[in-house]
Amino acid sequence: MSLKKIAIVGAGVTGLTTAILLRLSGYKVEVFSREHPVIDYKNPFFASSFPAASILPHSIKSPISKKLFLRSTQFYHQLFEHNFPGIQRQIHYEVFSEALKNNPTYLPWLPGYTEIPVTGRYFIPHLPNNPISRAWKSSIFFVDWPIYWKSLLSTFTTLEIPLVIESIDFSQIDSQFPTNDYSLAILACGSGFEEIQNKPLSLLKGHLVEISKGPTLRNPEGELFSYNYTPPTKVYRTLNGKAQDIYSYPRSGSMILGGSRITGHLIDGEWIGDGLLTNYNFIESKLEWPYAAIFELNKILIEHSTNATIDASQIKSQLLGYRYLGPNSSLCLKVDIGRNLPHIHAYGLGGAGVTLSWGLANEIVTKTNELLGKPSINSTHTLSPSIQHDSSIVKPETIASYLAKLNSV
Ligand SMILES: Cc1cc2nc3c(=O)[nH]c(=O)nc-3n(C[C@H](O)[C@H](O)[C@H](O)COP(=O)(O)OP(=O)(O)OC[C@H]3O[C@@H](n4cnc5c(N)ncnc54)[C@H](O)[C@@H]3O)c2cc1C
Repeated sequence: MSLKKIAIVGAGVTGLTTAILLRLSGYKVEVFSREHPVIDYKNPFFASSFPAASILPHSIKSPISKKLFLRSTQFYHQLFEHNFPGIQRQIHYEVFSEALKNNPTYLPWLPGYTEIPVTGRYFIPHLPNNPISRAWKSSIFFVDWPIYWKSLLSTFTTLEIPLVIESIDFSQIDSQFPTNDYSLAILACGSGFEEIQNKPLSLLKGHLVEISKGPTLRNPEGELFSYNYTPPTKVYRTLNGKAQDIYSYPRSGSMILGGSRITGHLIDGEWIGDGLLTNYNFIESKLEWPYAAIFELNKILIEHSTNATIDASQIKSQLLGYRYLGPNSSLCLKVDIGRNLPHIHAYGLGGAGVTLSWGLANEIVTKTNELLGKPSINSTHTLSPSIQHDSSIVKPETIASYLAKLNSV
């Protein structure tokens, strides 16, 4: 194996997870990032500042999303079992007032997926006085993002992976990463893909409200739950008539209320695209539009469906972030060997970057092994003697147990 470095452009969840997995597989990696993953937190161009974050393949299109989702879920399962910080599992409801035109492709992949009859007397979180046309529940993993992100960064630091804060000029990439020093470049560059494709990216704008001391929502069986609920379009939709979902995800000491998935582009920093509309009157919160709508609709749902209450004095912050889509609005994972330095492109994660991160990183390790040949055990990081290198596929249980141990030190 070559002792040359692998350059990873991007220190979002894709870049960091990939760097960790490649490092544990014995490669020498170096990460370059325009934004600082700690200091530039809350920069709307840095998607990894915003995930809510459910492990659900929402707002993503890719022929390999099933493979990536199932593999990622194995990693999250093992990280959960080994008590890696910030991972929880709970019942999640997805509820629709309007009839669904198509079944989401991911339905059969969800752990514990169960349809709920809408005509029976079953518990289904929704807005009062509105019909329910379809509902299901599953038992999915959730990431308490501030805790998980901190642990991912601390793992990265403990593994002594160099991080260079620098904007990479993609047109000069061959001279930035000379083949004397580098064997591969991985472009996990999120919004930076705009410079590669040279035209405005397709985005899904998202609004979130964070409230402090959020209540724990429990169903009548006493189980902790969260939801995505799509009200009738007469209640909540975009200007172009697209139905929008609201959601609530618990965090330790707070709660995230969403949401929106509004399509458009940013041109010279100006939003060119759809907007939001609702016919509810908002009296309680003094939030700006559309945060007021998101807060109020979730409040009504929570108070109608559970014994819990929330009020405007708990509002901690309002956040705006962008979910970046790849070419043809789908995920881009491709190997380019037609240049001096081979490239792996990995961006366009939409609303599922956290969800797919481990599956994608695993796939990148496999492609790297094919391109460069597997590293020998001697070149493995000194901290990871327990990591097995007898397989081209990284074992989730081995990685999870190792990472959990690193984080407990
Ligand atoms: C409101 C909202 C809610 C979400 N909820 C969820 C959820 O519940 N579950 C889920 O799975 N996902 C969710 N997501 C999506 C998730 O946040 C993204 O898919 C994910 O963060 C994308 O990560 P990334 O690393 O690919 O890109 P990013 O986090 O955007 O990182 C890109 C990196 O590339 C760097 N970069 C770009 N250009 C250059 C350059 N020229 N030179 C050097 N570095 C460069 C940046 O500095 C950055 O480090 C949500 C997103 C939003 C906005």
